[in-house]
Amino acid sequence: MDEFALIAQYFARAPRRAALGVGDDAALWPLDGQRALAITSDMLLQGRHFLPDTDPERLGHKALAVNLSDLAAMGARPCGYTLALALPEVNEAWLAAFARGLHRLADAHGCELVGGDTTRGPCTLALTAWGEVPTAEALRRDGGRAGDDLWVSGEVGLAALGLALQQGSPDSPLLASQATLDATTQARAIDAHETPVPRVALGLALLGVASAAMDISDGLSSDLLHLTRASGVGAQVWVDRLPGHAALAALPVAQRRALQLAGGDDYELLFAAPAQQRPRVAQLTQTLGLTLTRIGRLTPLPTVQWLDHAQQPLTEVPCGFNHFAPS
Ligand code: ADP
Ligand code: MG
Repeated sequence: MDEFALIAQYFARAPRRAALGVGDDAALWPLDGQRALAITSDMLLQGRHFLPDTDPERLGHKALAVNLSDLAAMGARPCGYTLALALPEVNEAWLAAFARGLHRLADAHGCELVGGDTTRGPCTLALTAWGEVPTAEALRRDGGRAGDDLWVSGEVGLAALGLALQQGSPDSPLLASQATLDATTQARAIDAHETPVPRVALGLALLGVASAAMDISDGLSSDLLHLTRASGVGAQVWVDRLPGHAALAALPVAQRRALQLAGGDDYELLFAAPAQQRPRVAQLTQTLGLTLTRIGRLTPLPTVQWLDHAQQPLTEVPCGFNHFAPS
């Protein structure tokens, strides 16, 4: 049983007071007739999501960033969060740096830490964050319509390259390519993995523009399936037009595609918008200083086709991360 089947079988229950329950980047809890709180929880575990020697200041940033990214994916404005922390021991230098990274990002978004829990145990960071959004305009995964354009922000695949460089497993084909990557590029890839930028301003700007949205955390190929299934549509994606750092273009095509389709941790927004919104989306690229790339479209046929530069479907599609994936 994989992660999503497990959630569906044991925990997904029909919402009663909630405006939106399990299955999106965040739940929606009504505040009044117009507004809702978007609520999300994301957990980082040492050994699973970060290495023991990860810089604690960067870890503080990332622990909150992955939660703010889910709020961004709903078009919500961050308000507050709680922090549940398990630590094997008290290391004050580590705690000071962790708190610095956490508070800096929180302050940049006006997001208040209002509670949590602290225990001894294997290093685990579990945050719950919430933000406000106009309920009817919230960017859900289920609003996509056949014919809508499919867009992605920033670059995809760089964080996965950063992770591969850090892990450096001896049999990784990337190690062969590592020699071709200069130190600046390697550092940028590691930055992309360790200090993702939650696209909060983009999420807010997409209210009334996007028909559906989500953030890319597990890898584009599996994340897109969540959006198409929720919307009851399929998609065509132009794989060779996916935006990526120049370092990716230098890699052999199979490696580049694996990083861009299966690699997670980009925390970019994947969104759908009707074709008549193209000028507004183009304008957002200017006003936000963030590249937005049209990578495909939603289709009535409920399958996802990954097309190469010759418009031929890929026969093998690298697949994203799934805790409890069948081996
Ligand atoms: P995301 O990657 O956007 O954080 P996930 O893929 O982790 O979302 O989770 C998918 C959906 O399942 C989300 O709506 C999440 O809130 C919900 N979910 C995950 N684990 C549980 C759980 N143990 N109980 C209830 N809902 C859960
Ligand atoms: Mg998400």
